[in-house]
Amino acid sequence: MNNFGPKSTREHECRLCPELVASRTQIVFPTPCPPGGLLAIGEAPGMEEDDIGEGFVGRAGRTLDALLVQHGIERNRDYGVANIVRCRPKDNRKPYKHETDNCLLWLSIFLLRNRPKVLLLVGSMATEVFLGPGPLYWHIERSRKSPVLLAKDALPTLRHAIRLLHGMLDGVFAVPMPHTSGMAWNRRAPNGKMWREIGEEQVELAVECLKSSHVT
Ligand code: URA
Repeated sequence: MNNFGPKSTREHECRLCPELVASRTQIVFPTPCPPGGLLAIGEAPGMEEDDIGEGFVGRAGRTLDALLVQHGIERNRDYGVANIVRCRPKDNRKPYKHETDNCLLWLSIFLLRNRPKVLLLVGSMATEVFLGPGPLYWHIERSRKSPVLLAKDALPTLRHAIRLLHGMLDGVFAVPMPHTSGMAWNRRAPNGKMWREIGEEQVELAVECLKSSHVT
């Protein structure tokens, strides 16, 4: 059997996850950022992303763009987008563990090709993949003390790529934020602030990291 068979592992033909192969219209590839730029990482493509073939083009994406544009950071010029999983899961279910593991191989390669300095982790899933288990709010508080991304916190598939990135860029940052899809956006976080406000603060922190030239 060649690589185009049922289990193709070629990036443009990937068929590692049978359920996702069945539910996707197309693979949604990440869009690059400039080396040393910012990469926003979400969970998985939704309906609009699956239709169009680009990440964060629906409501969540428009909110993300608006938050970053306030700081002069523009998509495709200063920042790119990626997802933990590249194919749309049926009915927007959460990706399974084996799907995440499969797709993180592709994400690792993408990180090494694109060399982002700041990872803006949009939502709990991307946050836990890079920063380990725990409530989103706890991760957000921790990032306020130090946003430096530690390879040991990430899922094993990513650790080598993160170590290499640290060497290439003299430090890499990870800033978690509530998902911009808006589910919890208008509710209050444990500190009484609206999640929206926390989202804005985290975007500001990510932009500060982008502008800083080295890890403190
Ligand atoms: N939500 C995500 O996590 N990613 C997208 O690309 C769109 C919505």
